[in-house]
Amino acid sequence: NILIVDDSEVVREYIKDSLAQADGAGWSFYEAENGRVGLEIMRRRRIDLVLCDVVMPEMDGFAFLEAVREMSECTDVPVIMLTALESVEKKVQGFEAGASDYLVKPFEEAELTARVRVHLKIKRLQDELRRAKERYRKLAITDFLTGVYNRRHFMQLLRKEFDRAVRYRQPLSLLILDIDHFKRINDEFGHLQGDRILVDLGRLLKGHIRSHDVLARYGGEEFVILLPMNGANLDRVAEKLRRIVEEHTFAGLGDRRLTVSMGGCTYPQRGVRTMDDLIAKADTGLYEAKSGGRNRVVLWTPLRSKARRKSEPARR
Ligand code: GH3
Ligand code: MG
Ligand code: MG
Repeated sequence: NILIVDDSEVVREYIKDSLAQADGAGWSFYEAENGRVGLEIMRRRRIDLVLCDVVMPEMDGFAFLEAVREMSECTDVPVIMLTALESVEKKVQGFEAGASDYLVKPFEEAELTARVRVHLKIKRLQDELRRAKERYRKLAITDFLTGVYNRRHFMQLLRKEFDRAVRYRQPLSLLILDIDHFKRINDEFGHLQGDRILVDLGRLLKGHIRSHDVLARYGGEEFVILLPMNGANLDRVAEKLRRIVEEHTFAGLGDRRLTVSMGGCTYPQRGVRTMDDLIAKADTGLYEAKSGGRNRVVLWTPLRSKARRKSEPARR
């Protein structure tokens, strides 16, 4: 899609005819008689290249160019300025405003098409590069098996969210979830089936948390969930998730049920002052949930840990 912005209809026709003749690939043309109309088209259409006159009524080429460069989705659309002004100063001004190139009027058909081709090629390569970058960014933060966030990205998000919770004095909760007796599942149904269950569980969890809760695979058969909520709400959510997993029919397991144990912890509370505290206490909760019989949720609190220390003889 090529946009031609020029107040002279004759020039627009000349450009269109020249390009249409030279091209076999079927470029589509859009025309505007000044910068303002050009901008409207840029907002509505995905334009791949712009040819733009400098002197025009209402909005001239430089003003148009500046406005285009401020549109976030148009920052690398090539803009070739068409100038009758031969002065070096004007050309430099054009480049500084973000022009990709210029053509001095009157220009040859061959030069016009050659420059358009070059800039379309650069644009295509830039688009490919951006898509590749986006793909790699996604890969870098995603767990390859389950498609949820990976541990590294989770830690980054946790650090950010924890700082925010501290600064704005907002509660933040962490859940660590571990599949019960997953080794047996692997032994009985095979490792591949085990993998499928991890994928299925990731999807199940994702489907039952809010969009601002962060789910990640923490490792092996452990998931973590970060939730911006206090302990009372965490208790409700964790219990709900536990039950959902317990009641879920996992494909390939027949009537065999799968359960999970969860440990959780909330900031702020006594004994939980850092991000590492939050993780360690949630982990303690998980350990207690396992040793307490599995398929349960244990949210860590200072009282709970004190009670346990009293009831259990000290082990060395
Ligand atoms: P517990 O209830 O104490 O958690 O028992 P468990 O068997 O789940 O725990 P344990 O930590 O002893 O074993 C975890 C198992 O999870 C062992 C390992 O084979 C399995 N596992 C870890 N990662 C993967 C994975 O990516 N795919 C599959 N299929 N299995 C995995
Ligand atoms: Mg485990
Ligand atoms: Mg386990």
